[in-house]
Amino acid sequence: MKVGILGGGQLGRMLLQASANYVVETFVMENDENCPAAHLCHHFIKGNIKDFDAVYNFGKNLDALTIEIESVNVEALEKLESEGVKIYPRPSAINIIKNKIKQKEFYKQHEIPSSDFVITQNQNELADHHHFFPAVHKLAEGGYDGKGVQVIKDKSHVGKGFDEHSVLEKMVNIKKEIAVIVAMNDKGETAVYPPAEMIFDPVLNLLDYQISPSQIPEKIYWRTEAIALKVVKELQSPGLFAIELFIDDEDAVWVNETAPRVHNSGHHTIEANYCSQYDMLWRIMLQYPLGNTNAILPSAIVNIIGEDGYNGNATYQGLNDVLKMENVFVHLYGKKQTKPGRKMGHVTIIDKDHNYLVRSAHAIKKLLKVIV
Ligand code: ADP
Repeated sequence: MKVGILGGGQLGRMLLQASANYVVETFVMENDENCPAAHLCHHFIKGNIKDFDAVYNFGKNLDALTIEIESVNVEALEKLESEGVKIYPRPSAINIIKNKIKQKEFYKQHEIPSSDFVITQNQNELADHHHFFPAVHKLAEGGYDGKGVQVIKDKSHVGKGFDEHSVLEKMVNIKKEIAVIVAMNDKGETAVYPPAEMIFDPVLNLLDYQISPSQIPEKIYWRTEAIALKVVKELQSPGLFAIELFIDDEDAVWVNETAPRVHNSGHHTIEANYCSQYDMLWRIMLQYPLGNTNAILPSAIVNIIGEDGYNGNATYQGLNDVLKMENVFVHLYGKKQTKPGRKMGHVTIIDKDHNYLVRSAHAIKKLLKVIV
């Protein structure tokens, strides 16, 4: 079976690692031939995943295709699908998720709880909706990793908003940010991973580390699971999805957004769950039974980020010390060049003791530095 991946980032890289357990011929398309996934696939094709012809020509001789980023040419995927190539997830689902306006309208239409919103075309329209403030302004398309998201607290912040097609969402008083990964196969059978919880640095407002399973009361746990399942069922597409949710200060659960692919919040499933999210997607694409999503042990993830002030050939200070730690697994993405804030890898820690996970996460952040 020939399977293609659009995009060659770290998620593609880990998907390819998991492919080694199966009989499958892998293809990757991406603009950069030094991308993290380029050397792990059987066939690397240099090309622009946003270009119709490039995507169509890449996919036309494949049995199945998946994506590791949603900014792909959906029209080409629709044509491929009409010609019999299996696309995970279906282009119709990518089409909804790719655009934050369509995504919010989808939640509303299907009565999936998500914060109230209005659509804005420019800053003038944003100013007109001041009764909505405090709110969060999000670019309809092209935002990524927090770029394309602006908090608009009051009228004085309108200038920070976007002057193009965007969605303005009511601000949620977030108590916790959770992610739930859901798998669905061609038969419509589903499997849900335990929720993961993002812990943010209150000073830097950046993701500090992640803990799974999330420590939330059982009632909220089931609610997040039910909502995440509903999102995937309504998308009516096989594939693997990550649903990001907020729990607010009154314990209400809201969908923030959905990723139609393997996701950063599921990195830990390689070591911490019986079936990793990557293995799960192969099972779906190769028509094998779904795997067991249960956690073997609780886990934490720490991202390895390029240190401020360092640009150039990456070296990993403290790597030996981290590798000496018990139940700690280092994943480097093979990127040669570091720059401030660049995601270079992640570390997973597994342990039954929550305090050990938190202590180790902090220790690893202090020990491991990406410099030149
Ligand atoms: P991206 O897709 O770039 O990661 P998100 O839509 O996930 O952007 O938003 C980034 C962060 O902004 C979220 O993790 C959350 O902390 C905050 N955020 C987003 N939407 C809201 C909202 N409606 N209310 C409060 N905070 C929000």
